[in-house]
Amino acid sequence: MSTTFKQKAPGENYGFDYSRSGNPTRKCLEECIASLEKGKHALCMASGLAATDLVVRLLKSGDHILSMNDLYGGTNRYFRTMKQFGVNITFVDATDIDKFGSAFQENTKLVWIETPTNPMMNIVDIEEVVKITKEKSNALVAIDNTFATCYFQRPLEMGADLVISSMTKYMNGHSDTVMGCVVVRDDKIAERLRFLQNACGAVPSPFDCFLVNRGLKTMHLRMKEHMKNGLAVARFLEGNSRVEKVLHPGLESHPQHLLAKRQMRGFSGMLTVFIKGGIEESKIFLKTLKLFTTAESLGGYESLAELPAIMTHASVPKEQREEIGIADNLIRLSVGLEEEDDLIADLDQALKTAIP
Ligand SMILES: *Cc1c(COP(=O)(O)O)cnc(C)c1O
Repeated sequence: MSTTFKQKAPGENYGFDYSRSGNPTRKCLEECIASLEKGKHALCMASGLAATDLVVRLLKSGDHILSMNDLYGGTNRYFRTMKQFGVNITFVDATDIDKFGSAFQENTKLVWIETPTNPMMNIVDIEEVVKITKEKSNALVAIDNTFATCYFQRPLEMGADLVISSMTKYMNGHSDTVMGCVVVRDDKIAERLRFLQNACGAVPSPFDCFLVNRGLKTMHLRMKEHMKNGLAVARFLEGNSRVEKVLHPGLESHPQHLLAKRQMRGFSGMLTVFIKGGIEESKIFLKTLKLFTTAESLGGYESLAELPAIMTHASVPKEQREEIGIADNLIRLSVGLEEEDDLIADLDQALKTAIP
């Protein structure tokens, strides 16, 4: 937890001088994450959004960000704050690669993709995005890998330049630390990011780094169990008469199931369900759930349920929410590590109460 480190002689240190610039616990975690993502350098920040901010600081006034439209509400809100600094941003559907390709501008310097998307569970073809970006610009491709994690998907191996994760979610996995990271291969970009990490200072504490490092020790076991439970819940819901539609990339009914199988080694516990009802039924459903807790966030050991239209995605402008399809009967589930039968029984009783 030390904030400062004894020096051999004035200006001559043993590898660390001041804890914002670096400390042994954060270094240990950063090396581990770089290795897991098949990158070369990792930089830990105090939250996923601080990691996003670090990447955007590679840009300058007059640059353009081409982002997909269906993304984490906080990232959307963050991007829109950049307009006042002269960084323009366009939100486009990246599942339609031609439409996405036609949105490049001559000043596009960053391409931002999330896959699977939150909460629509769309899959974006990372290799296609990398290809079209190299054709149209010299922009960097950044992938938000929070939903899949490096256990199931490695964007750097598919040609992406930067991988961003909110480690608050699956990587830590215990819902007790907020943290983010950026992983890169390129030494020059890493050097600039390292400078910015210290210069801007939104760094995590060594204790939080210790917690995430400990969480990573069981990530492979947790992800397998999240996948098993997530698929079981998705199949149960898909066969239920009170459900309109289920979105889970591991279901054969998912329009991009084949792409998902090609690009990912598996699926997390995230899924989206449209129940047969409106805002009232959705609220009753959430209030009646017992094992699933009504809460924002995802990726922890415990199952969570939420209503994006008024919770996680309330900060997305209404027109954009409607364009993406975030309706009042859309419920996002983060399926945790409880017993599969108990999870299904809980969803069953809540559906019966909400939609008699
Ligand atoms: C939570 C989340 C973020 C932001 O991370 P914080 O740690 O909450 O700042 C970014 N992207 C996705 C996909 C997320 O789920």
